[in-house]
Amino acid sequence: MRVLIVEDEKKMASFVRKALQAEGFSADVVASGDDALAATSATVFDVIILDIMLPGRDGLSVLRQLRERSIPTPVLLLTARGDVGERVEGLNAGADDYLPKPFVLAELIARVRALGRRAGESQPILLRLGDLTVDTITRIVKRGDRVIDLAPREYRLLEFLLRSRGRVCSRMAIVEKVWDYDFDPGTNLVDVYVMRLREKLERETDSKLLHTVRGVGYVMKESP
Ligand code: CA
Repeated sequence: MRVLIVEDEKKMASFVRKALQAEGFSADVVASGDDALAATSATVFDVIILDIMLPGRDGLSVLRQLRERSIPTPVLLLTARGDVGERVEGLNAGADDYLPKPFVLAELIARVRALGRRAGESQPILLRLGDLTVDTITRIVKRGDRVIDLAPREYRLLEFLLRSRGRVCSRMAIVEKVWDYDFDPGTNLVDVYVMRLREKLERETDSKLLHTVRGVGYVMKESP
C-alpha cells in the first residue's frame, strides 16, 4: 500500500513516515499543497494523509482540488482538536475520515489501514444519519455532541442497521448478521435489543431514527 503524507512539520512528517514504513507501507512525504497536487497527478496513492494547516494552499483546498479532478483516493484529514467547523467542512469537501491532532500513532495506522482496505469496497468509516454519527474504528457513537454508550452487541446491531439505512431489515437478517446465527432463535431477542438501542439513541431527543415496520422488521431513517 502506498501512502502520501502531506505535512509541512518535518518532525511530524518523518515520524509518521517511519511508523508507516515499519508497518510495511510505502510512504512519500510532501510539505505543501501544490506539491501534493503534483504528486497525486504523477502517482496513484492508496491513501492520502492530509494536514489542514499547510503554508500557502491549505489542506481543505487541496482536498477540493483532488475531488474536482476526480481523484478518488481516500483522504484522512488531520485537523485541530475541537474544531468542529473544520471537521464538518472537511467531510463536506470529500474527506473520508479525520483525526484530530495530537493523535496516537496506533490509531493513525489503524485508520490508514482501514481506509486502504475499504477503498475497494466503498465501506465508509464514518456512518451518519441526521445528527447521529458512528465512528466504526473507535466505535464512538454520538448524537450531536452527546456520546452514547452502547454494549458491544448493541453497537453491532446499530452498525448493521445503519449500513442498511433506508432499507427494512428483517429479524432473521439481523439475527444472521449481528448474532451470526443461521437459525431463528424463536425468541424476542432482536426486539429486546432494538428496544434498548432505541431507548439509548432517542433518550434526549424527539427525532426518531430507528423505526419498526410491523410484521417485517426494522429500518433506520430520518423521520419524515
Ligand atoms: Ca502542518
